[in-house]
Amino acid sequence: MTIIGTTRLLGILGDPVSHTLSPAMHNLALSTLGLDYCYLPFRVPADHLPAAVRGLVALGAAGFNATIPHKEALVPLMDERSVEVHAVGAVNTVVIAPNGRLTGYNTDVAGFVTALRETGWHPPTGGMALLLGAGGAARAVLVGLQQLGLTRVVVVNRHPERAARLVADFRSRFPELELQSLPWEENALPLEACCLLVNTTSLGLRNETLPGIELSRLPAQAVVHDCVYRGTGPTPLVRQAAERGLLAIGGLPMLIHQAARAFEIWTGQKMPVAIIQDVFDQLPRPPT
Ligand code: NDP
Repeated sequence: MTIIGTTRLLGILGDPVSHTLSPAMHNLALSTLGLDYCYLPFRVPADHLPAAVRGLVALGAAGFNATIPHKEALVPLMDERSVEVHAVGAVNTVVIAPNGRLTGYNTDVAGFVTALRETGWHPPTGGMALLLGAGGAARAVLVGLQQLGLTRVVVVNRHPERAARLVADFRSRFPELELQSLPWEENALPLEACCLLVNTTSLGLRNETLPGIELSRLPAQAVVHDCVYRGTGPTPLVRQAAERGLLAIGGLPMLIHQAARAFEIWTGQKMPVAIIQDVFDQLPRPPT
């Protein structure tokens, strides 16, 4: 990649940000296509977010991604918001127009939907999805499930009141979805009736298993999607689901496809996803 006088700035704001794989993915895609942009990581503490955004506007940056803890805080800073941002309540991709106007998008939704669609999976009519977790990723996944055509979703979370709040919020926005929250108790989880199990908790990142999730209770055609991505092999959930012969999807496809959607929003070009997938394990990473 050559940086010259016309090179446009892209980046990611987060705190911490040192673990992010986004600069490696985007810079590889930009240089592969010969596009005149450069993508950098910026560690921005929560209370500096408005100043950082104003700074990027002043610098004439083309746009940026956001990760923890900024996704929700960005929503009110936007001049315009995509349909997904209204639905999820979080922004992970921003376009800065030449006049400084900010448009917020949420590409985690497209990342999740594309990761499932590319397997060829279609939800069975009336099928039920079991969603583990009720944080930011769960909100994006819930919008994605609605886009995929799921009509029944059960949400389960360690702190059940958070799942209940999520369900109440989404019931008013998506009245066509049949939503229910249940406590995370082994015997209460309707695994036998589930066509799709999605993990959006952070469990698995450090090789943890999910308590009370007995995969032998899932139907043989059920799909397991773990949003968690580990740099060092599959999560226990993905490994155990694959061992049982279930279709098991890890967090990497979602990660790459959310980046691909952002890339297309900024540059108008398709990210060379196959190249990124092929070399993903060799992408430059920060030392651990
Ligand atoms: P949040 O902090 O918003 O939510 C975390 C969720 O994990 C909550 O539901 C929380 O439950 C649950 N949780 C945390 N610790 C435990 C535990 N010990 N036992 C049970 N539940 C627990 O995070 P996000 O929703 O933003 O992210 C969640 C995961 O999804 C992360 O690992 C993240 O990397 C991944 N992700 C992956 C993406 C991808 O592209 N592949 C995109 C976005 C996220 P509680 O409410 O009870 O605290």
